[in-house]
Amino acid sequence: MLVLKFGGTSVGNATNIRRTIQVIQQKAQQHQLVVAVSALSGVTDLLLKAGHLAASKDEGFRAVLAEIEKKHVEAIKELIPIMDQNSILSHAKRSLNALETLLEGCFLLGEITPRTSDSIVSFGELLSSYIVAKALEKEIPNSTFKDSRELLTTNNNFGHAAVDFEQTNKTIRAHFNKHQHRVTIVPGFIGATQDGQTTTLGRGGSDYTAAIFAAALHAQELEIWTDVNGMFTANPKIVKQAKPIEKITYEEAMELSHFGAKVLYPPTIQPVMSKNIPIWIKNTFEPEAIGTFISNVSTKSDNPIKGISHIDKIALITLEGSGMIGVAGSSKRLFEVLSQIHVNVIFITQASSEHSICIGVLEEDALKAKPAIDKAFEIEIAQEKVTPCIVENGLCIVAVVGEQMKNHQGISGKMFSALGYNNVNIRAIAQGASERNISIVIDKKDVHKALNTLHEKFFEDNSKQLNLFVMGVGNVGKKFLDQLKQQQAYLLEHYKLNIRVIGMSNSKKMYFDQEGINLDTWQEKLPAASDLGNAAFIETVKTYNLRNSIFVDITASDIVAGLYAQFLQHNIAVVTCNKIACAAEYGSYRNLKNLSRKYNAPFLFETNVGAGLPIIDTLKNLVASGDKVHEIQAVLSGSLNFIFNNYDGNNGFAAVVRQAGVEGYTEPDPKIDLSGVDVMRKILILVRESGYVMELGDIENKSFLPEVCLKTKTVEAFFESLEAQEKHFKALVDKAVQSNCKLKYVATFKDGNASVGLQEISPEHPFYNLEGKDNIVLFYTDRYVDQPLLIKGAGAGASVTASGIFADVIRMGNV
Ligand code: ADP
Ligand code: ASP
Ligand code: MG
Repeated sequence: MLVLKFGGTSVGNATNIRRTIQVIQQKAQQHQLVVAVSALSGVTDLLLKAGHLAASKDEGFRAVLAEIEKKHVEAIKELIPIMDQNSILSHAKRSLNALETLLEGCFLLGEITPRTSDSIVSFGELLSSYIVAKALEKEIPNSTFKDSRELLTTNNNFGHAAVDFEQTNKTIRAHFNKHQHRVTIVPGFIGATQDGQTTTLGRGGSDYTAAIFAAALHAQELEIWTDVNGMFTANPKIVKQAKPIEKITYEEAMELSHFGAKVLYPPTIQPVMSKNIPIWIKNTFEPEAIGTFISNVSTKSDNPIKGISHIDKIALITLEGSGMIGVAGSSKRLFEVLSQIHVNVIFITQASSEHSICIGVLEEDALKAKPAIDKAFEIEIAQEKVTPCIVENGLCIVAVVGEQMKNHQGISGKMFSALGYNNVNIRAIAQGASERNISIVIDKKDVHKALNTLHEKFFEDNSKQLNLFVMGVGNVGKKFLDQLKQQQAYLLEHYKLNIRVIGMSNSKKMYFDQEGINLDTWQEKLPAASDLGNAAFIETVKTYNLRNSIFVDITASDIVAGLYAQFLQHNIAVVTCNKIACAAEYGSYRNLKNLSRKYNAPFLFETNVGAGLPIIDTLKNLVASGDKVHEIQAVLSGSLNFIFNNYDGNNGFAAVVRQAGVEGYTEPDPKIDLSGVDVMRKILILVRESGYVMELGDIENKSFLPEVCLKTKTVEAFFESLEAQEKHFKALVDKAVQSNCKLKYVATFKDGNASVGLQEISPEHPFYNLEGKDNIVLFYTDRYVDQPLLIKGAGAGASVTASGIFADVIRMGNV
């Protein structure tokens, strides 16, 4: 004998019922079956809604009733051959009329009792199981329908009735001894009191019905057929990477379901566990998938964690006060009052000082718990020995479950560091003495992030997901996205880094996709997306609240640079090639660095100096390892280098500058390069990263530009002034050539002072042979005394800048 249970989606409509019937037929070939059936999906909710509306004297209940009727009539018409439909439709109609009478009664009285509510709700299972039984009759003549209420006896705790096992087991066995059908279809979820009043077993209770039959009949197996491939390592609707668990023990499954894995109603396990009947969780829509096998066999596996589950809508109730210390029985009184009002306590913590006790309950239960607790402790409250209990709503419980956890140290360490790193605030912690479970209470806004973070940590083979929000998709931005697209698969395979772009914007539009933007089609999608507002962009990033979020600034905008603090404060890392923030006044640079440390959000800007060259990272490592930088000599402007390498005194200085612009080496306004401002910013950043406090204004700028050029207001006027001053530039070059030197624009830091300016460089100097747009930096430090540490290479251009940004993003994968 097997007992099967089909959930709401498995009987959601005629198509799904056909699948259910296929499974039953196939199983019936080898086994005698009892099949418990849930209400058509969504129907229990509709019934509850109709009851609630009627009791509120809202005529709207009729429309809900019509919707319920339509679902069932449609299923019957599609499933049952026309010539057989009449009797089945009229049976359904009679049931629906009885339901209507109950609802009309509630409407007239303006109230609904738990008892009436159970009667109303029972129609869901009664109708669905009747329809399945009738459809099956055609396929398996030796099949029948049996109303569970005649077999399953409960107490009168309506809505959550407790089963009288002695009576129920007896009745079930007696019935099946007498009636030997190949398949017996029963409605799940419902039972009846001794005196025949309809009761229900709690939401999700059809699983329980099936388990009760399985235990009573000593079934070989209990099979729960649902809409997913088993019990997953986490709720698959929230954690996309979750996987079905192949084998799990009763205790582990109980723990997961108790803490929210809805796929199995928690009380289901007890009756079958005591008889050692294994449970299979199977997918009606993919019967060939293995599913999950639940038994008493504990399988050894490398991973001590079996799954992660969570419960929404939790409230924490805290009762505290000196009056609780050392007073025996305070907790007893607290739990007694909760039990009297039928409040289920999901979570308990008490500090050893006994000064406070904190419990987690469902939010709806907290509403009735608060006045009851305050009443129970009213004397202590009046004497100010205890304060009225505090209720905090909007929380969730997350539980990490696994039998083998007790044999492994460091699991909670891993758990808390991963959550802490992602800025998830933990409000309360409990670890069961069995060490099968560690549960935490967190804010509900963090639950998605927490589940995904923990799942990644414990199940995803050291892989890490990085979620990027890119502002600026111009020249460099496009290159960056191209490089990322090309490397995505490789990084996933070889570095276990899953880098996804979740949001992007240009100066007009912003485009988001929580599942990751397709990097093949973003260029069509972005222009059609919504209008940009920086505030809306930040809000979206915050609301998504994804783990390992990174804001990537590929603009040169001071407004965008002004947003970094907001990102860092929300634990969102910042990667930028924009120099403005790091070259702003020292206080604001320092503030960003402090925020980065405080909120565990890396702030990386390798491309601020020398594009993709590893200059800042090298400097950081030097400083971190205790070295001290005394002197820096550097050529940091790819554009100025290009200009002075190409200008020979005869080919027109302005023309060469224009050429540099065409090749993409200058800023859109070349004066920023030629005036030395860009180089000043770069040396300032290097000096600051070396540990010195300096402002832009402290840097001496020995400009080679004549005053008139510096004073121009437009780019065109600037070029005209360069043309007019050709003689000045020619003289500079000629003088250098006469001394057998080349002109280089050099940034220097020595003895605490920094300067930038054009210098004549003689052939033996390392700068002399600097080609094209190359950059070079020499660091003289405590350790590099005579021979400086030298970094040299292409220091400008979209590709190398993009790859520098990419390197910073990958660095995030390693922290
Ligand atoms: P049924 O109607 O078949 O009883 P339920 O909706 O009660 O189905 O349970 C199945 C659902 O449980 C899945 O669709 C899934 O969304 C949810 N669920 C939550 N946690 C888990 C988990 N750990 N494993 C599988 N499913 C889960
Ligand atoms: N139909 C009931 C519910 O929705 C019972 C079940 O589906 O298990 O809660
Ligand atoms: Mg269910």
